[in-house]
Amino acid sequence: MVSQKTEAIVIRTFPLKEFHKIITFYTPDFGKVKAVAYGVKSPKSRLGGSLELLNHGTLIFQYRENRELQNITDFNLISGFDAMRSDFTRITYGCYFAELVDSIASEGITSPEIFDLLRTTYQFLADADDVPLLARGFEIKFLDCAGYGPELSQCVHCSSSMNRLPINENGVATRNFGMGFSVRYGGVLCANCKNRDGAAFAITPGSCELLKMLRRAEWERLNRIRASTGNHTELKRVLGSFIEYYTERRLKSLKFIENVL
Ligand SMILES: [Zn+2]
Repeated sequence: MVSQKTEAIVIRTFPLKEFHKIITFYTPDFGKVKAVAYGVKSPKSRLGGSLELLNHGTLIFQYRENRELQNITDFNLISGFDAMRSDFTRITYGCYFAELVDSIASEGITSPEIFDLLRTTYQFLADADDVPLLARGFEIKFLDCAGYGPELSQCVHCSSSMNRLPINENGVATRNFGMGFSVRYGGVLCANCKNRDGAAFAITPGSCELLKMLRRAEWERLNRIRASTGNHTELKRVLGSFIEYYTERRLKSLKFIENVL
């Protein structure tokens, strides 16, 4: 048994008997870590307040290889992202991001990029003008970090380039109309190949370009990006179906967002 220290964000909590909790952390050094916090719900526990969902801190735990549950020694709070917590919509999206990371990230596989993405997203969430657009940005960036990022630059069937849209004399992009997005093939299909997947979604060139922009953009630039209602509808459908395909389930927090917000 070795004592380990790492930064961590609480991505799931689950009650265990009267006073204990099972906590799932996401860490840059160990990926997903599941651990028991004994007595954490007792009024005397010094860890009680710090192990709330979405808190960011320094975790010290006793690491045992091949054990499903580790033992928490200490957790020192760095940030509770208080600005995000004061707004119901933002905290609800925050919970969705945590559930998404929990559903795809496997234990034992480390990704400092996923940790950084989660931390910087929570830092920025309070300032985002368009929270659903930030959610689409999180989804595409997370899929990229997790190795599931969709192909957006060339047709996944014939490899023809989907970059740069030639503009005609009326200022309208002339190519790529009729393109589709195939969840099964993992990316865009050009108009000629769209019927290769009968379940492919229609996606406009504008929404595809927006998705590429979200994939690249730093969070600080997000408030300068504008999305139409049509872009929102398309990207939500495309990314939602893509995520459902890889997680093999409908995420509870996403259902909540659709039904309540
Ligand atoms: Zn094609």
